[in-house]
Amino acid sequence: MSAVPTLSDVGQRLEAVRARIAVAARSSGRDPSEVRLVAVSKTKDAASIRLAYAAGQRDFGENYAQELVKKAAELEELRDLRWHFIGHLQRNKAKVVAPVASVVHTVDSARLAEELGKRAEDSLAVLVEVNVGREDQKSGCRTTELGEVLDAVEKETTLRLTGLMTVPPLSDDPGASRRFFEELVVLRDAHGGPQRLPDLSMGMSHDLEEAVRAGATIVRVGTAIFGARS
Ligand SMILES: *Cc1c(COP(=O)(O)O)cnc(C)c1O
Repeated sequence: MSAVPTLSDVGQRLEAVRARIAVAARSSGRDPSEVRLVAVSKTKDAASIRLAYAAGQRDFGENYAQELVKKAAELEELRDLRWHFIGHLQRNKAKVVAPVASVVHTVDSARLAEELGKRAEDSLAVLVEVNVGREDQKSGCRTTELGEVLDAVEKETTLRLTGLMTVPPLSDDPGASRRFFEELVVLRDAHGGPQRLPDLSMGMSHDLEEAVRAGATIVRVGTAIFGARS
């Protein structure tokens, strides 16, 4: 029988993830409350999201525009739920994502910033995604384009620049992510520091400790909360 998650499953997994964040934060002299947990619910149904919500979770991450819009409608009565868009955003989807999302983590070009700025109503929080691993297939701007993309976000009066996001190259070894997380910190410092870019969105189920130790203020965790995706 396939396992239908129950409140206690999701609640216990959330507790375990929060404990991992707290241990990693304290081990590097940080306050665990500096790290926001985004529960990545892509491919999971509204019922699973309700379980996490009932266990106190408020920030949820989605990768696909249509899926986000559908779930946001299904869960409309959960007024204080915040949607984070964390997938590759095509410019023609900006108009459906902007009204629903509280935070968009994946702006990676000046043209996308401009389009999102047109579609956002006011004060949509935006992070700029950087392809620190310099992978050909990955989204995210190149490190050399970062300055231009940051300026483009700041030009849009409806957008609020809050930081940087990255997805390092896939690896079985969580330690392999560390130098990419550290590189994001170096880039942040080269482009105005925490004053201009307070948020660093980095770290997933397998490498969240490395990310928190490197300075993440947002971790995006799916599998460790909701179980494997089919
Ligand atoms: C799917 C996804 C995550 C969550 O990954 P897990 O390994 O399931 O924790 C985080 N960030 C992004 C951008 C993703 O696409």
